[in-house]
Amino acid sequence: MTHARTTGVDQTRALGAAVATLAHPGDLLLLAGDLGAGKTAFTQGFARGLGVTERVVSPTFTLARQYEGTKLTLHHLDVYRLDHLQEAIDLGLSELIDDDSGVTLIEWGDVVIPTLPADFVEIRIAYGYEDDERLFSVHPVGNRWSARRHALDEVLSPWQGAA
Ligand code: ADP
Ligand code: MG
Repeated sequence: MTHARTTGVDQTRALGAAVATLAHPGDLLLLAGDLGAGKTAFTQGFARGLGVTERVVSPTFTLARQYEGTKLTLHHLDVYRLDHLQEAIDLGLSELIDDDSGVTLIEWGDVVIPTLPADFVEIRIAYGYEDDERLFSVHPVGNRWSARRHALDEVLSPWQGAA
């Protein structure tokens, strides 16, 4: 588990872009945290890091969006609504994740953990003490990511310390 802290939405986007430099095809990242924590902001930066130029918007009402990056395709899901969770499963979440040209980010993804292979990074975002402060807990689960644990620490290091 690694901790990081940002002060402002641009820093969260930069953090997302930094994590994206480690992304491999077939990766899964789960974003947890209350409404307004910064899950979509993180995703926007992550998308930029994959070379997506299209604007990334919240998929809250559409369940899933797909963005073509120069490096990888991004599947962006938001399973906040319970029926979305069921839809995501029906849609074949595991096939999305297996996509060998893509990486999958799921907002409120902690609720889908029981339905997924135990190989993902869970990123929890909490509000900090100050308005623009967000605290990140980054938790790699499974073999895919444990091999990248040190690299992950490295890319997060600019935002470590004060948290
Ligand atoms: P979520 O997807 O978790 O509901 P969003 O990314 O849509 O959250 O919204 C985050 C909101 O919080 C935005 O309005 C953003 O400007 C604001 N904000 C303030 N500080 C931060 C920060 N450090 N990181 C991310 N967002 C921040
Ligand atoms: Mg969101």
